[in-house]
Amino acid sequence: MTETYKRACGTCMLCCKLPSIAELNKPQGKWCRHAKPGKGCENYPNRPTPCRGFYCIWTWDERLGPEWHPSEAKFYLYLKANGNVVLMADPSAPLAWRQPKYYQTLIQASASLLAKNNSMRVICGKRSLFLLPDREINIPSQDEGKNVSLRVVRKLGDISYELDVSD
Ligand code: SF4
Ligand code: SF4
Repeated sequence: MTETYKRACGTCMLCCKLPSIAELNKPQGKWCRHAKPGKGCENYPNRPTPCRGFYCIWTWDERLGPEWHPSEAKFYLYLKANGNVVLMADPSAPLAWRQPKYYQTLIQASASLLAKNNSMRVICGKRSLFLLPDREINIPSQDEGKNVSLRVVRKLGDISYELDVSD
């Protein structure tokens, strides 16, 4: 869906299936009505803002090997405008991102993000969590669908984390 490509999507259209997109009245996990799986978006010139502003990390980070192609990995990573990263996992393969070939890199990326007070959130269907270098913080089910951000609290050499939740 992104406009700045360094690498081609190929037949992958995972980002046209997994997320909810309010502008399209598209629920999470259902194909967008404009998606022609294996072919592309039939509404590309008029696609809505979330599709235009979507930065799939696979398409521009050439450090990622072919195993990171979303159609093979069964997840994709995208960068939000606020600098946070979201890993959107295909519920048909919810543990794929935990494989060692991905996990160590994800943990390193999480540490780099945290150093800048940013975070990595993993979303898989109705469940999500923040992935940290040394732990995972599950987002309570009652807070799913709300704006949830991770606050890093540094005090006297200790580090702790709190969730900020707003509607
Ligand atoms: S998830 Fe990434 S690689 Fe797959 S179609 Fe979307 S932008 Fe392209
Ligand atoms: S409008 Fe096009 S780019 Fe956006 S989700 Fe639908 S098929 Fe994908």
